Amino acid sequence: MLPSSSTRLLAASRLHALTTSRIRGLATVSAANPAHSYKVVVIGGGSAGMAVTAQLALDALFRKGTRKDILMIDPSDVHYYQPLWTFVGAGLKQMKESERPMGQLVPKQAEWLKDRVSRIDPAANIVTTGSNRQIKYEYLVVAPGIKLDFEKIPGLVESLGKDGVTSNYAVQSVEKTSEFLKAFKGGNAIFTQPATPIKCAGAPQKIAYLAEELFRTRGLRPQTNVRFHTGMGKIFAIDKYAAPLTEICASRNIAVHLFSNLIALRPDAKQAVFRDVSPTASAGKETIVDYDFIHVTPPMSAPPFIRQSGLGNADGWVDVDKETTQHVKYPNVYALGDASSLPTSKTAAAAAAESAVTTHNLLRAIKNGTGPAAAYGGYTSCPLITGKGKLILAEFSGYTGKPQETFFYDQSKESALSYALTANIIPSLYWEGQVKGLWKGPGVVRRITNPFDS
Ligand SMILES: Cc1cc2nc3c(=O)[nH]c(=O)nc-3n(C[C@H](O)[C@H](O)[C@H](O)COP(=O)(O)OP(=O)(O)OC[C@H]3O[C@@H](n4cnc5c(N)ncnc54)[C@H](O)[C@@H]3O)c2cc1C
Repeated sequence: MLPSSSTRLLAASRLHALTTSRIRGLATVSAANPAHSYKVVVIGGGSAGMAVTAQLALDALFRKGTRKDILMIDPSDVHYYQPLWTFVGAGLKQMKESERPMGQLVPKQAEWLKDRVSRIDPAANIVTTGSNRQIKYEYLVVAPGIKLDFEKIPGLVESLGKDGVTSNYAVQSVEKTSEFLKAFKGGNAIFTQPATPIKCAGAPQKIAYLAEELFRTRGLRPQTNVRFHTGMGKIFAIDKYAAPLTEICASRNIAVHLFSNLIALRPDAKQAVFRDVSPTASAGKETIVDYDFIHVTPPMSAPPFIRQSGLGNADGWVDVDKETTQHVKYPNVYALGDASSLPTSKTAAAAAAESAVTTHNLLRAIKNGTGPAAAYGGYTSCPLITGKGKLILAEFSGYTGKPQETFFYDQSKESALSYALTANIIPSLYWEGQVKGLWKGPGVVRRITNPFDS
């Protein structure tokens, strides 16, 4: 278990109080639906699962239905808009701005089962939950997100949230980042990114830029070393954005260590151990660096129940067609979001675009539709905050590697407009659009705001 702060517990109980009636309202699945059988079961009510649930609920098929036909299963009382956690970690936003009670977001045409899926039997169309409920489905949408593997770094679980060790990736420690940054007096500030796939591949470096700016503002920069260690071979996958980011690091004296993978923490000595994972003769060499502050992005992987259920590809992600989001072996199963095999950068922005495709194709299958299937082209976005009021708004297809920018200006340049959009407009689009089934990514807007694809 990760350490939890009293603030987080208070927030959780506040949200629990808000959501209790909703949970009681659906009490048990059997009360509402004795057959334990649903037309569509959605696993996960995060950015991806909630978007699909909401879009399905808006369709005439489910709007006019009297029986509840959609079941969303998620064990969490709280729905998080995680992109705000970088801002929260830097002290620029409050944690509560990233939270909504789950029950408040579930549309009335759907039921929410507060439980964790532990197994899927795709041959029998049955989902089993942690509390041993068995639920039958006709169609299944799998969106349980990505698993954070803090335990894979020895020394990390016990030190997280203490003595300068933090992570914006764990709900329990996001506010610790801002607390530790405020208390920082100089020394080595380290920011890490693992060699595994992660969600929002820009977030490990965004917090480094914000922290570096904070140290400068507070006059601590001369006595501070800022180091970014990444297990990857590039600072960012897409060259158009990697080039300015590399320049920013050089000009602000942020030391970038590529192919440098965090393998252990020694909290007693305040040391971090890195291994060289480069394809060179020095591979395997270990380096020990003292830290005064360390922001760790943990290794991540697919939730194990996916592989155990026979739905995973070789790496454990739900094995779906990259255009239709339909499972390659079980046609009544779809997947999207971080847990899916869709070969793009895992973000909430990608989930928005994917959700439109999944919903379209799922409804087409349910209605025996003959129209064309929708195809996902790999759209994703990563707003790289480089300082308070400055941001590089990376938007691209993870399939082609080509930029797909929404606006006519060059989004690879630091911009105050891109910052304002990310800090203020996009969160509203998320809460008023994406989780209500109305916002499906900027594809439609782009035709007007960047008609010539500049
Ligand atoms: C620090 C940080 C910064 C980020 N910045 C950005 C950004 O700027 N822009 C951007 O677009 N994205 C960003 N992201 C990434 C984005 O939040 C994720 O890619 C997105 O939330 C993925 O959606 P998802 O639904 O697949 O997973 P999630 O939103 O994580 O939701 C998964 C849901 O599934 C539930 N669940 C888990 N296991 C089970 C189970 N066994 N049974 C049932 N339910 C289960 C969970 O409780 C959760 O509610 C950031 C993430 C972090 C952590």
